[in-house]
Amino acid sequence: MVIGYAHARMNPIYRTEPYRQSAETKLLQVQRKADGNWLLLFADMLFYPGGGGQPGDQGAIYLGEKRFEVQGFEKQKGDVWIVTQDEETDLTSYQKSLARMELDWAFRYRAMQMHTLQHALGAATRLVFSGYETRGMTILPDLSQCDMRFVTADKPRDPTLAETLQHTESAIAADLPVEAVYFNSAAEAREHFGEVLRMDPRLPEYKGRARVVVINPEGAGSSLQDASPCGGTHLRNLSEIPAVELLDCQPAEEPGEWVLSFTLSRGSR
Ligand SMILES: [Zn+2]
Repeated sequence: MVIGYAHARMNPIYRTEPYRQSAETKLLQVQRKADGNWLLLFADMLFYPGGGGQPGDQGAIYLGEKRFEVQGFEKQKGDVWIVTQDEETDLTSYQKSLARMELDWAFRYRAMQMHTLQHALGAATRLVFSGYETRGMTILPDLSQCDMRFVTADKPRDPTLAETLQHTESAIAADLPVEAVYFNSAAEAREHFGEVLRMDPRLPEYKGRARVVVINPEGAGSSLQDASPCGGTHLRNLSEIPAVELLDCQPAEEPGEWVLSFTLSRGSR
């Protein structure tokens, strides 16, 4: 949940401008790893490196005339380094030069749709099931499915799952806005949002700056309102979510814990 980037040299564009598809930036530093892969650190970071159950972005970097595929990410002291492979080029020669980053936008947008839907479904699940507590979620690497964990005293059945879906679809139809807000600590966020804040109570108390993703900040037009600590990328409005399909709801290993699996229809709205 966090966002302790106090020592970072990199400006995380993915966090401040999630709809940005390309960026010009400076290559600050290059490292060669023992396995031959290159690690690149840029002044600005367009790509979401993954985390919190959301897969990392895909895309490419252009240095001069050459194109380098983004193959992964490595986090070091608040910075995110891009992993790439190239046997023929000495990438240290590009150090301090300008680069262009190009996001695989279709992949990112789909990830944002699924992730933002997960926030909305989590909020709807809380409205329906007694003794609700949130747990983690995982979006599959190919974005075909999201598995969201939660705890309830009830056994989820078809009617209650249908009710959950209905709350979610109403919230989508109500065009509810989504925004990220920052607090100095989780305690401050809790004080601000009260019951609206949805947090896994088992997580250790987070002391640093907290980023909270809020659905329907004004609490208008729908019974659905939500605030969840999250560092991922999100849509600016629920109206951008295409049709939702619930796939399955199965008990998890822990007593009272369930895994709700869902997906997006391929159509766009
Ligand atoms: Zn999120």
